[in-house]
Amino acid sequence: MRVILLGPPGSGKGTQGDLLEKRHGFPKISTGDLLRREVRLGTPLGKKAEASMGRGELVSDEVVVEMLQKRIAQPDCRSGYILDGFPRNVAQALKLEKVIGTGPEIVFDIHLREQSLVSRLSQRRICPGCGAIYSLLTLSPEKRDVCQACGSSLIQRNDDTPKVIKERLKVYHEQTVPLIDYYRRRNVYHKIDGEGKVEDVFDRISAILDREMAKLKGAEAAR
Ligand code: AMP
Repeated sequence: MRVILLGPPGSGKGTQGDLLEKRHGFPKISTGDLLRREVRLGTPLGKKAEASMGRGELVSDEVVVEMLQKRIAQPDCRSGYILDGFPRNVAQALKLEKVIGTGPEIVFDIHLREQSLVSRLSQRRICPGCGAIYSLLTLSPEKRDVCQACGSSLIQRNDDTPKVIKERLKVYHEQTVPLIDYYRRRNVYHKIDGEGKVEDVFDRISAILDREMAKLKGAEAAR
């Protein structure tokens, strides 16, 4: 099962992807996390990507597709994966189809009001050690600094600042929104209301995923 999580920055793709990974066992692959790792390690790829990321612009399709291609060739991706943050434009969607020979089985597009997106992004903290995502809106003050999973100190992403958030939302509207039509036409698109509690959003996604997985199994059995 290949799942794509679409949606603007701050809509909860990473958090929902982690929950889906836990429940279904497919690895969640975040191209943003992969890129941040390359930047942290100071690799040539990281050096190429760093400036665009800092400005809130997209990294070149070539760099991202090559990186993703390597990741999905790994054995844990054999029966499926959940993509968070890829594709970001139609050219990437086409390249992905070329690489895997088919399209994704299901696309969830998590929607949120712009005001909620900005507030969530400004309150977000991440763990540089294990990639866990936190929100100051839900963390108690004594737990604000340390990752509860691995003990590393939490940080704010350097692109979660007002100026860069504005640019990332602009890039989303210009380049990523056309993917809605693209996947709608392929009958794999599902719009999800991303407002409310994390568990409620997850229930909305899970209900559709369970139904679609049952359909796919039924179709396979009939073959
Ligand atoms: P994210 O963690 O998904 O918010 O991504 C953080 C940043 O990484 C983005 O603002 C882009 O600069 C870069 N990035 C992540 N995924 C992609 C992608 N599929 N294509 C191009 N750039 C990406």
